[in-house]
Amino acid sequence: MEVILLLLILMLLAPGVFAALIVPILFLLGLFLMTQLFVHSMASLVLVPRSLIQIATNRVVKRNHALEHATVNVLEERFGKSRVAGYAVRDGYKLIAPQPIPPEIVMQAAQEGLERLQRGERNLAIHTRCGTSLLVSNFLFSLLFILLLVASHRFNMMTILMAILLAFILGRPLGFMVQKYLTTSTDVKNIYISDIDVEYQSTHPVLALFQPLRYYIRTGYYERAERRKKALLTEGLKK
Ligand SMILES: [Zn+2]
Repeated sequence: MEVILLLLILMLLAPGVFAALIVPILFLLGLFLMTQLFVHSMASLVLVPRSLIQIATNRVVKRNHALEHATVNVLEERFGKSRVAGYAVRDGYKLIAPQPIPPEIVMQAAQEGLERLQRGERNLAIHTRCGTSLLVSNFLFSLLFILLLVASHRFNMMTILMAILLAFILGRPLGFMVQKYLTTSTDVKNIYISDIDVEYQSTHPVLALFQPLRYYIRTGYYERAERRKKALLTEGLKK
């Protein structure tokens, strides 16, 4: 705060000295930011595809990822846009809700999401706030930033603004495509929801009231033989 005040006084009383001081400071700051962006972009070009490949090659996580999106989509159909976030793991998925939702409602939404996916509502597997879309936008920005840098041979603000604008325009549709074809799978016909656990981030009873609730929804996979047995059993019951 004092530094800003000092600079303001200097600007009013001695504009020449102010300019001589501020220009190199701004130059160094710009250089620092550009270098940081360059390092971040180079890292993203390697790390983002690696993360996406890790999910894309794991069928179990992809199915749970589709279910996670379906659950959040069903919850948002019922209660409007929320800030519920989530991520998929091997034996299910976790949801993080800033406002508590009764676990039985989450369970119902999970079950409804699963049944609707099984009936072919594939768009339920896509969500606008998915981390995949953020990763894709990040990757696009990094790629465009590096390409524009190579093409223009210098660091400048235009390069950053162009990269941000293009990543913003292309990020959303490309993010949806990557979700659809790489990071989710709607092949959920053999999946079932087994149970739900509510996890508090804090074990302190008062702190827990103010912290988001985490729900751990576990899923299972019917083996083919189990399904056949179940089908035969159902058939037997009908007769
Ligand atoms: Zn997602």
